[in-house]
Amino acid sequence: MKDSNFLKEMNARHVWHPMAHPGDMRAHPPTIITEARGVRITDIDGHEVVDGVGGLWCVNLGFSCEPVKQAIAAQLDRLPYYSAFRGTTNDVVIELSTVLADFFAPDGLSRAFFTSGGSDSVETALRLARQYHKIRGEAGRVKFLSLKKGYHGTHFAAASVNGNPLFRNAYEPLLPGCFHIPAPYTYRNPFNEEDPERLAQLCLAALEAEIEFQGANTIAAMIVEPVLGAGGVIVPHESFMPGVREITARHGILLIADEVITGFGRTGDWTGSRHWGVQPDMATTAKAITNAYFPFGAVMLSEAVAEVFERDETGAALIGHGYTYSCHPVGAAAALASIAEMQRLEVHRNAAARGRQLYEGFQRLKERHEIIGDVRGGHGMMTAMELVSDRASKTPIAPEVIARVHEATYRAGAMVRMSGANLICSPPLIMTEDEAQVILDALDKGLAAA
Ligand code: PMP
Repeated sequence: MKDSNFLKEMNARHVWHPMAHPGDMRAHPPTIITEARGVRITDIDGHEVVDGVGGLWCVNLGFSCEPVKQAIAAQLDRLPYYSAFRGTTNDVVIELSTVLADFFAPDGLSRAFFTSGGSDSVETALRLARQYHKIRGEAGRVKFLSLKKGYHGTHFAAASVNGNPLFRNAYEPLLPGCFHIPAPYTYRNPFNEEDPERLAQLCLAALEAEIEFQGANTIAAMIVEPVLGAGGVIVPHESFMPGVREITARHGILLIADEVITGFGRTGDWTGSRHWGVQPDMATTAKAITNAYFPFGAVMLSEAVAEVFERDETGAALIGHGYTYSCHPVGAAAALASIAEMQRLEVHRNAAARGRQLYEGFQRLKERHEIIGDVRGGHGMMTAMELVSDRASKTPIAPEVIARVHEATYRAGAMVRMSGANLICSPPLIMTEDEAQVILDALDKGLAAA
């Protein structure tokens, strides 16, 4: 391997990183990760830490999952690729679709459209939602609703339903017809409401009002994360998702659950929708579907939505959408092995237990560190702390301070994720109690150092 300084210089010269300033690479070079085992990652200077990020909320089974590696190798050997555009397909993706239909049966979802990642899945779901209404003769239903602070990826449609200006402003104009409802974010919200249940009701009332304002018959779908991830682990009150389901159904608006993070055990249940007892019309997945070892995703559709397409006799249901890598056999093989292994290990149970440990640990850290304004989580392996410079006024922390906490935490033995004023923890779901404790101890030291 080339030496660390050489690689950092070449990185600064030639690599543009997602979500980073290309001119910032010399002042703030990224940590070069060179190896990973179990739940630990090692950088080019040989510093090993526990990965509190799970790659990017995606390596649910950790970095040494042999069945997934072997399935990928075997599939590369037998059939590394073939297209699934009209006329051909492959055996593995058919097998996967039956496994997914079984996996998502409690969510009422039985058909799969395969993609190469989360943004692709969101793009697919939004397009299919419009087509669904066109087939049914409601061509005027073209708008989309979503939540402020929601994150759905970075393709133009996904960015248009994103609820954070950071991912939008530089790329405007975005898709017209996308409208945003306040998120049930108890720590900061336009209603100054601190009670989660009352806040959920206020957000639902805002949703009703927006539907009335736009006209229900102009709205195709609403897309929502069952627990908001990148927005800072915003866990809605238990009445929120059922309320969204009831309102959207009453107005003929499709509900798309964005399960890119929350699918496959992360919330402590197998899907985020199931966690809240809600059946969406579609669910977007990616990330952990292959344990992140291969870029892959799927949109799952309900029987009722699928039948509108399948029964069409006019040709309107021809799907003029898809990717070269839709139905990729290596992705499908990786997904089959990942799902089997997640089910064998029942990772959702450990996610619930370790997630509770991390959440309670974060709350204890809040008692010790004045800089922590809010702690969120308690539903599986999605935990966040929001840092402030002053608790009373909730003034957001300066970016250089959170960067210092992040760096000191890394030096003390754990990688966590910085997202705005939040430090987010979303480790592999196979993490042990001791490994979770390493993250808490490292954060304690990191926070003290700041
Ligand atoms: N939806 C959600 C909820 C996500 O968290 C993400 C990515 N973190 C995406 C969509 C986009 O996925 P990708 O980065 O794979 O395109």
